[in-house]
Amino acid sequence: MDNLVSDLQTLIRQPSVSAKKTGLVECANLVASMMQRSGINSGVLYLDDQSIPPIVYGEVRSKVNPSRTLLFYNHYDVQPEDPVELWDDDPFSGKVENNKVYGRGSADDKGELITRIKAVEYCLKATGDVPCNVKFMVEGEEEIGSIHVEQYLEKYKEKLACDGVIWEFGYIDAKERPVISLGMKGLLYVELLAAGPVRDAHSSLAVLIENPAWRLVQALATMRDSKGRVLIKDWYKEARPFAKQELAAIAREPFDVQEFKQEYGVKRFVNNATGTDVKKALVGMPTCNIAGFDSGYIGEGAKTVLPAKARVKIDFRLVPGMVPEKQLARLKKHLKDRGFSDIEVKFIHGEEAARTPLSDPFVKVVEEAAKESFGNYVLSVSAAGTGPMYSFVKVLQAPCISIGSTYLFARIHSPNEFARIEFLNRCTKCMARILEKFAA
Ligand SMILES: [Zn+2]
Repeated sequence: MDNLVSDLQTLIRQPSVSAKKTGLVECANLVASMMQRSGINSGVLYLDDQSIPPIVYGEVRSKVNPSRTLLFYNHYDVQPEDPVELWDDDPFSGKVENNKVYGRGSADDKGELITRIKAVEYCLKATGDVPCNVKFMVEGEEEIGSIHVEQYLEKYKEKLACDGVIWEFGYIDAKERPVISLGMKGLLYVELLAAGPVRDAHSSLAVLIENPAWRLVQALATMRDSKGRVLIKDWYKEARPFAKQELAAIAREPFDVQEFKQEYGVKRFVNNATGTDVKKALVGMPTCNIAGFDSGYIGEGAKTVLPAKARVKIDFRLVPGMVPEKQLARLKKHLKDRGFSDIEVKFIHGEEAARTPLSDPFVKVVEEAAKESFGNYVLSVSAAGTGPMYSFVKVLQAPCISIGSTYLFARIHSPNEFARIEFLNRCTKCMARILEKFAA
C-alpha cells in the first residue's frame, strides 16, 4: 500500500488537465513508465494527428492462460482544479491525511488507475505471471468527452482486442458497497436556434414582429408532455424494453427516495413516480431535458425588448436500441411537421447506450470478486449517465462492466477531491480477483 500511495501521489503531482491542454503528454509518459516498472509492457500511441493527446497502451501476456484477455480502460486526464481558492492545499499536492490521498485526480481517475496497475503488479510479484492476458488503454480526453476514443479503438483494434472490459470508474456507496454497473445511457445533445428580427427591437413591435423566444417555447412545448414523455413521432420505436432478469435486478437495487428528495429539495418526481418506477426511470427512461435557455434581457429592472434570437440546449438521454442520428432525424422532421422549419437544429454530440446483459458470465465474475473483497456489493443494471461505453462494445465486441474505488462523497470534479486508502486497497484486491476469476 505504501508503494501504491506514493505512486498515486506521483501521478497527482503531474497536472494533466485536458480542458486546458496542460501536462497531457508528460502524464501519459509518466503513466507508461510507471506501468513499465510494475512489469507491464507499455508505451504511448498516437493518432495520425499528433496534436491529439496519446493513449497509454499496456499489456502483459499470461503464461498460464493466454487465451483470455481482460482490458482495463482508464484515463490519465483530470478536471480543471478551479476554483483554486476553495482547496485547503495545493490541488496537485497529493497530501495524505486521515487515511485519504488528496488532490485533483486522486479519485477520478488516477486513484482508479493505480488500483488496476497495482493488481497486475501484485499478481506478477506473487506468482511471476498473470492469471489471464491483461491490457490497458488509458486515454487523455475523458474529461472533455472522450472525443477521440472511438478513433483510437478503431485504429488499434487488433492491439486492444479482448474478451471483457473493466470500466474506468465505479462508486462505493455510503454503506461502503461497490456499485457494479452494467451499462450507460446514450445521449443526443442539440442546440435549437430561433431567429427573429435582424437586431433586438423595441418590444412595442411585438404586435408585428414574431418573437423568437416564443417560437422556441412553442416548439419546445410540442416535444415533451408534463409526464416526461417525449412526443416526437417514433421516438421510442427501437428502445429495447427491460428483460425480465433486468426488472428483477432493478427491484433489488437499493434507492432511498426520501434521502434523495431531501438532497435535491424536491417534493415529487416527474410523473409522480414512486417505488420501483423511480429506479426504472433512472436505469432506462429516455429524457428530453432543457439544459439551458438564452434570449432577451434578464438583467435588473425592466427592459422592454423584443430579442433578435433565442436558443436552447437540449440533452436527450437514450436507452439501448436508440441511435442518436436516427433520433436527430426524427427531431428535425417533428419540427418541420409542426410548422417550425425556421428553427435551426445544431447537432452537438451523440452517443449510443450500452448495457451488458445480466446473463453474461462476466457479470458473475465481477459479482464474486466484489463480494470477496468488499463483503457486499450493489448491482446496477445501468447508470443514469452517459459515457463512451458503446464504442468499446461496438469496436471490441466485448462486454463492459464498471466497478471501482471512488467513495460516493469523494468530491470528484470539486475542490478537495480525495481517495480513501482503504477503498484503494479493497479495490486493488478486487481487481486481482477479477483477473483470477476471469481466467477460470
Ligand atoms: Zn471525471
